[in-house]
Amino acid sequence: MKKIKTIKDFSKKIKNEVVILRLDLNVPLNKDGQITDDTRIKATLPTIEYLIKKNAKIVILSHLGRIKTEDDKKFYSLKNISKRLEELLGTKVEFLSENVGENVEKVIKLLQPKDILMLENTRFQDVKKGEYVGLESKNNHQLGKYWANLGNYYVYDAFALGHRTNASTVGIITNSKNFAIGLLMEKEIKVLSSLFENPKRPFIVLIGGAKISDKIHYIESFVEIADKVIIGTALSYTFLKARGKKVGKSPVDNSKIEWAKNLMEKYSEKLLISTDSMCASEYKDIPGEVYFDIPDDKIGLDIGPESIDMITKELEEAKTIFWNGPFGVTEFMNFRQGSLEIAKSITSKKRNLSVVGGGDSIAMIRETGLENKITYISTGGGATLEFLSNKTLPILDIIEQYS
Ligand code: ADP
Ligand code: MG
Repeated sequence: MKKIKTIKDFSKKIKNEVVILRLDLNVPLNKDGQITDDTRIKATLPTIEYLIKKNAKIVILSHLGRIKTEDDKKFYSLKNISKRLEELLGTKVEFLSENVGENVEKVIKLLQPKDILMLENTRFQDVKKGEYVGLESKNNHQLGKYWANLGNYYVYDAFALGHRTNASTVGIITNSKNFAIGLLMEKEIKVLSSLFENPKRPFIVLIGGAKISDKIHYIESFVEIADKVIIGTALSYTFLKARGKKVGKSPVDNSKIEWAKNLMEKYSEKLLISTDSMCASEYKDIPGEVYFDIPDDKIGLDIGPESIDMITKELEEAKTIFWNGPFGVTEFMNFRQGSLEIAKSITSKKRNLSVVGGGDSIAMIRETGLENKITYISTGGGATLEFLSNKTLPILDIIEQYS
């Protein structure tokens, strides 16, 4: 990768300047709209504190949730997020319930050095008069240019969004003269690069979770960089079906059966698929039963005892570990055993590097109370997988191209 600018390159220039700071404050909310995990907010603090120290005027942009209707706007306002950020920073964060227009420009003009202003959810621009227009998410040129012109400097620190193309990211970069990445980006890139640059071996990758079609193709890259790739539960059924096993009602990507067969043949030494499953008759938190061949009316919701044994044995000697995606429906008390045992096994001894990434994976590891024993928690899900597979991210390619 070409050397790209970081905010440290701006250190002497941003005093009294308006810095547009793009963060990823897209945190999980419960049904009442309360934040259930603020890992991503906490991860942005070093960059904000750095900009305060350098006497910049800080304007924060972020998205939250997906905005498809006017109603979504009620639920996904960034107001609560600005309050949490204010608590964590111990400094006033002004919130404005708009992100374009005269008011925005007026408030920005009045900012003093060290002031922090958070504008409303960038994705509100995706819906106009009740209709989905996708100005933010489809990188509308005018919108990117407008936001770019709100400040003289732009700092991109939304690691978890690095695999997407938005007006408030790519659109601003292509219209801005001064842009750099923030401290979170720098750290994510540094830690995650060490997974593929020269990992202490054995290096084991664990991939679980539910987004099968999103994730399955990454496995091909992981078998190249890791010594072993372990696939569990929801992702495993495509492979088990390819092996001729019965998978019942468990989720399968039928378009990938042949591919899975070939991959298992080509990488028979490296690929490890969970064997038994803890199953239920429906997607519900009820006591499970163990099967190797899942009956037609059952669904696999966790890995079974033989898989736990096999995986924890495999992990014993591992020096480097990367884990994305829970190995069962960890939201259910009855189907979290597999993930819990894996978390215990990873943290039971000192490793050179252990990394967990992914929204649900982070929530799961926090619930086990073992997060402090993991070397690094990555704020990205899709972005982390993409970065590890491609050794870059679309946003980094754009940054390089326009630098
Ligand atoms: P992450 O957010 O860490 O990238 P995903 O979003 O891909 O992970 O997947 C997390 C979700 O996967 C969790 O909500 C979990 O309940 C679900 N899950 C795990 N195993 C299964 C399974 N066997 N069947 C259905 N859902 C599962
Ligand atoms: Mg998820």
